[in-house]
Amino acid sequence: MSSLSELEHRVHTCTLCKIGDLKEVVKHYPIHSFGNPHGKELLVVGLNPSTREYEDNYVSSSKDPEKRHDSQMNYFQHGYYGFFTKLEKFFQGEAKTALKWVNTPWEKVGFTDLTKCPTRNEKGQWTQIKTSQKRLIINNCQQYLVEQIDQIKPKAILAYGADACRCFYPGYKQDDAFTTMKKKPVILVPQRQGGYPIQIIQIIQHQIAETLLE
Ligand SMILES: [Zn+2]
Repeated sequence: MSSLSELEHRVHTCTLCKIGDLKEVVKHYPIHSFGNPHGKELLVVGLNPSTREYEDNYVSSSKDPEKRHDSQMNYFQHGYYGFFTKLEKFFQGEAKTALKWVNTPWEKVGFTDLTKCPTRNEKGQWTQIKTSQKRLIINNCQQYLVEQIDQIKPKAILAYGADACRCFYPGYKQDDAFTTMKKKPVILVPQRQGGYPIQIIQIIQHQIAETLLE
């Protein structure tokens, strides 16, 4: 018997992005989440997992969906990709106090992506993929995110990346960056090449604290 939930099983065995010209950009198994997102107060929703997670063996590429799932659930228990280390700055200071984590922010913070399939073409990762392909992949995957959020019921979501912001807030503009959309609530954080100045990091920490302590 499988220990995977019905939704987890569907995500791990999804082949929607393995057809047509998407086949050329989607060559790895889907990623359900990094770490266990269940029971986390804050859920970060990124855009697209990196193919390097598989290429550099941060996650298992076993044929067995349970083995892949386990390696993703235990993701933060071994060395992980530098992308996440950068994110950890958002959970320091005021945010640390509000989240009440002790050894690592990932005790209290979950992470999943809007799209579950890592993508790459000859030019690079997600940003280099054709817009039409991006649209198709988002279309294929976004229902999984809706169901995940429904099950996880995080107190707050941090949308990381402009496309992730747009998914929660279709009218998203640059001026909305680093604010919180109150209804859900969703903190909007576009990604930036080269990282953020300390003032912006503190604003994000403040948004997290304010949202969680409300
Ligand atoms: Zn997909």
